[in-house]
Parts: sequence; C-alpha cells; structure tokens
Amino acid sequence: MQKFNSVDELVNTIRPVDPIYCIRPNSIKTACNWFKSNFPGNILYAVKTNPSEKVVKYVGENGINRFDVASINEIKLIRKIFPEAKAYYMNTVKSREHIQEAYFNYNIKDFAFDTKDELQKIIEATKYAKDLVLYVRVSISNEHAEIDLSQKFGALPSEALGLLRLAKAHAKKVGLSFHVGSQCMHPISYAKGIRDLGNVIRKTKIIPDIINVGGGFPSIYPDLNPQPLESYITEIKKAFENLKLQNKPELLCEPGRALVAESGSSIVRVVLRKKQKLYINDGTYGSLFDAGIPNFVMPTRMIPNGRMTSKKLTSYSLYGPTCDSIDHMKGPFVLPNNLKEGDYIEIGQLGAYSLTFRTKFNGFYSNQIFEIQDKPIMSMYERDSSSSYLVA
Ligand SMILES: *Cc1c(COP(=O)(O)O)cnc(C)c1O
Repeated sequence: MQKFNSVDELVNTIRPVDPIYCIRPNSIKTACNWFKSNFPGNILYAVKTNPSEKVVKYVGENGINRFDVASINEIKLIRKIFPEAKAYYMNTVKSREHIQEAYFNYNIKDFAFDTKDELQKIIEATKYAKDLVLYVRVSISNEHAEIDLSQKFGALPSEALGLLRLAKAHAKKVGLSFHVGSQCMHPISYAKGIRDLGNVIRKTKIIPDIINVGGGFPSIYPDLNPQPLESYITEIKKAFENLKLQNKPELLCEPGRALVAESGSSIVRVVLRKKQKLYINDGTYGSLFDAGIPNFVMPTRMIPNGRMTSKKLTSYSLYGPTCDSIDHMKGPFVLPNNLKEGDYIEIGQLGAYSLTFRTKFNGFYSNQIFEIQDKPIMSMYERDSSSSYLVA
C-alpha cells in the first residue's frame, strides 16, 4: 500500500480517474487510545464496520485486540491476522454448521442468542460443551439512534428472564447484552439499556458474569453533532454503579463506527455537473451506501488542483455512476460554487460502513487504497481542530 502525507499530495501525484480510498492510521490510533483510556472494561472491535485487513491490523496493534464477529468468514479473517485473538460470535442468528466450525475449528467460546431455539442450536452444535460463554441479547429502545436495530435483534425483557435462566444452566459464564442502535445521538440510551438489564437481574436473581453495552457510540457528521464521547462513558459508569451489584460483572463494549469512521475518506471526481447536481464516479453501489437511503451527510471538501477555488459555497446533491436511480446521495453536500468536471472532492467520515459495501454493479468498482498521514476533515476526538467545519 502506497503512503502519502496528505490527500492533496496523493491526488495531485496520481490524478486518479476512478475513485480512491484513504486510510489514516493516526486516526485509528487516536480512537483506540481514547477507548482504552476511558471505557471501564474490555473493548471489542465490531469487524463488520470495516473488515479491511489493514484496518483490523491497526485496531489490533493499537491494543483493541478482541473482536466482535458475525459470520464464519469474519472469524477466519481474524484468525488469519491475529491467530490468538479473542473473538466473540455475537450474531444472534447463526447456522448450526457455522457454530460448530467456530467452536471446534476456531476456538470460539462466546456466543450470543435471543431465542430458545438459537440457544438449543448452540448447545447441540458444540456437543454440550462445558466452557461456553453465552450472552442473552436484550432488545432495548433504539429511539436515539440513526440506524435502528431493535426490531431485528434482541429478546423482549420479559423473554430474557427465561433465556438467562436457561443459559445459566448450560454455560460456564453468562452475559447480558444490548445494542442502542448505530450512531446513537443520546448517552441516556446506554443508561436506559443498563437499567433494563437491571430489571432482568433483579427478577432472575442471576448476576451475570458479563454486561455488554454493545456498539452505537457516535461519530460526528455535518448534521449530526453528538455530545462528547465522555458523556456516554459517564452515563454508562453511573448506570452500572446504580445496579449496586456485589460481584461486579465484567463490562464489554463493541464499538465499530466510533473507532474507524474518521480514519477513512473517499476521493471522488466530478464527471458532469448539471446545475446543483454533481455526477461523480462513486455512489451507493460503491463506498457511499450510507449517503443514499440512510441519508447520512458526510463532510466534503474540494481538493485544490491548481485553479482558483471559490470561497462561495453552495449545496449540491450527488449522483453515482451506475444507471440506477437509487444511486443518488441527497446531501446537502456543501462545496465551492465553481466546481466543474474533472474536480476532485474528498468525502470524509467514510472509514465505517463504506468500503465493505462496494459492489461491481454496472462495471464500476475500484480497490485503490492508500495510507495518508493528514487529519480528517472532522473529528470527534479533536473537536477544536475541526471547528472550522460548520456543524449543525
Ligand atoms: C454493528 C454492531 C456493532 C457496531 O455498531 P456501531 O454502531 O458501529 O458501533 C456492535 N455490536 C453488534 C452486535 C453489531 O451488530
């Protein structure tokens, strides 16, 4: 992988025709260090967020060397990069074959579930193993999240009582987990989740060995300006103390977005301008899926290319290269008003849920990835340095 000091240097050196992608190892390091210094427990990286080998490697080398995996291929990826790392199979819906392979071939002991049927599958596929760590995933309100996961995953708190009792009968250790939804905009969601787990604990009189507060920690976007991450940790600590448990469970979290979002940028090129519509060379079938129907607005910046950049800004919508009408990113994306064909744009905050969504639809696919050393356009961790970027 080629390395450059900055996005501008990279673009002016290679002047790419197709989209290219940047990884900032420094941003991954900053985020990992922040979680290690602030989260009062063990941290798992949610691999689905960005499974690029380089990214997984940087996360692990920066001391977050436990991994939340959801498929047998994610398990294989982790075993290839970090053969000894602890991986947790936290998808609540898995095939018997994959459970068996995970346990017997890849030394996975930690499994999540949210139904009795899934628990039965885990027990049978591991041949009644005695060393399982089983997590009951409880569905909690995702009201403050941009991406709601509560309808697809999690047992109702009332169902969780029976599941926790069953797990206790079969496992070496038991855990309770939840997910507040992705890009959670209010720290109170974690406190509510922990309180819901508290009710399960009181009613079953089972103190879990592990409490897993999941992912959902936010990043920063032009129209999504969450409270500092410190507030999230404060809520979690307070709610955890309020459970007043004598034997303190181990705390886990599973951040994805917050660890890697700001490490990644896509560099795209304007192929055609129609008034405020910019037709660019990447789109929702490429690295910009989340800018499509989920309508995330990423920070954008015109890359200086030798001609005058107008100081006057205007709002654009972006259109991707394929012939499908959903290949459209509504924005608004704020950029200089004199953009034209051939100009390059950096789109930031794309280290999470981006590269992994690329398809080859319509013949458009790019896999040119570079390492760069400059700062991201916006940062949750260095807010002052990004304050020049207008946030809502
Ligand atoms: C997706 C996912 C995560 C990561 O979520 P973020 O919102 O990116 O932090 C963590 N845990 C589970 C079980 C997930 O499915």
